[in-house]
Amino acid sequence: MNEKSYERLVAADRAMLWHPYSAIDAATPVYPVASARGVRLTLADGRELIDGMASWWCMIHGYNHPVLNAAIEHQLSDMAHVMFGGLTHAPAIDLARRLIEIAPDGLEHVFFADSGSVAVEVALKMAVQYWRGRGRPAKRRFVALRNGYHGDTLHAMSVCDPVTGMHTLFGDLLPLQFFVPPPHAGFASGVDEGDVAALEQVLDGHGGEIAALILEPVVQGAGGMRFYSPDYLRAARALCDRYEVLLIADEIATGFGRSGRLFACEHAAVAPDILCLGKALTGGYMTLAAVMTTHALAQAIATGDPGVFMHGPTFMANPLACAVSLASIGLLLASDWQADVTRIERGLTAGLEACRAMSHVADVRVLGAIGVVELSQPVDMATVQPMFVERGVWVRPFGRLVYLMPPFVIDDTELARLTAGVADVVGRLVVESGRCVPVGR
Ligand code: PMP
Repeated sequence: MNEKSYERLVAADRAMLWHPYSAIDAATPVYPVASARGVRLTLADGRELIDGMASWWCMIHGYNHPVLNAAIEHQLSDMAHVMFGGLTHAPAIDLARRLIEIAPDGLEHVFFADSGSVAVEVALKMAVQYWRGRGRPAKRRFVALRNGYHGDTLHAMSVCDPVTGMHTLFGDLLPLQFFVPPPHAGFASGVDEGDVAALEQVLDGHGGEIAALILEPVVQGAGGMRFYSPDYLRAARALCDRYEVLLIADEIATGFGRSGRLFACEHAAVAPDILCLGKALTGGYMTLAAVMTTHALAQAIATGDPGVFMHGPTFMANPLACAVSLASIGLLLASDWQADVTRIERGLTAGLEACRAMSHVADVRVLGAIGVVELSQPVDMATVQPMFVERGVWVRPFGRLVYLMPPFVIDDTELARLTAGVADVVGRLVVESGRCVPVGR
């Protein structure tokens, strides 16, 4: 494709399309991708970028994987889709069985939803219907951690961090929830008793109105890319039991190996009452989410009023998405993914270390295949995004965070190019009017 048609794509996009958290005709650049293979994106003008984002946590096996392609093609020859109301199919049944095998103990039932945010809505509704079924309808509010992120739909937003989570913008459209401080101690630092006490205080004072605690186990993603101690998660599980509050684990970002365990709950050896999965579930091929519950929860909904769970998306359990998920989980478990994640963790730790000494870097942290450089001020996206592309890497900072979570199949040379790209770009930034901008701009 020549430069003119590349520019035409960009111009047409700008005129018509919204991008995530963007505006029509925004100043931030947008790059047309023509194809992707392994860990490389090929732009429409032929430039190649090493992908440091795995398309927002999803693409764990890399792009255009022959096994995943074949799973979709095979399923396509039977049926692309069929409604799930009153009908069922092998891809959904096989995937549910597989998820029940690998998920934390006690999660025995599966609801397939369309996306992460919808899975969170489903989880919240399940918690409310559970308590109705148990004869305690007053329990219909939620407690969440500050710095959390659970999605962009209205009720999911209500349990996102109240400051970064658009609460001011949407005001009283959002139901009011309870918030507790985010766990302060890092992954390896043990638990801060003050954090546990703050959670206990809310549960003790308001347990009668709280249906569930929702949290991202061990890794808080889009709300700050923070890692916290598994001890906190263990303590939270125990408090939920003591105060009769359900625990919803949002593993939409962490599920399928990203934090070094198949599910982040495993770091603490706890099982939630409700588990949300998404993103890497399909190996990043298409949108699908799963909400898994205990039998006790499913039973309380079945025996309560109206005796059914009130949610039923059109594309529930889409066969193509279920088939590719099954193939993706098969690929993951057949691979030495733990060794890959450990190798990536080492590469991220070594490669990002250079950033630590920079005056505008507040912190550098790595857990599993997640590497984070936290700056002291937000990145100026319009000027900084092109710097990564010029270095042949795809890195998409947000706010003060420049982070990497590459596909697990990235090799050491590609990983070194990615981290060198980050260190080089971050090293050329200075703080100007409260933003990190390129030096000498
Ligand atoms: N929960 C978490 C922890 C997430 O990271 C995300 C997506 N970033 C969501 C929920 C929402 O998922 P989706 O974008 O698929 O709606």
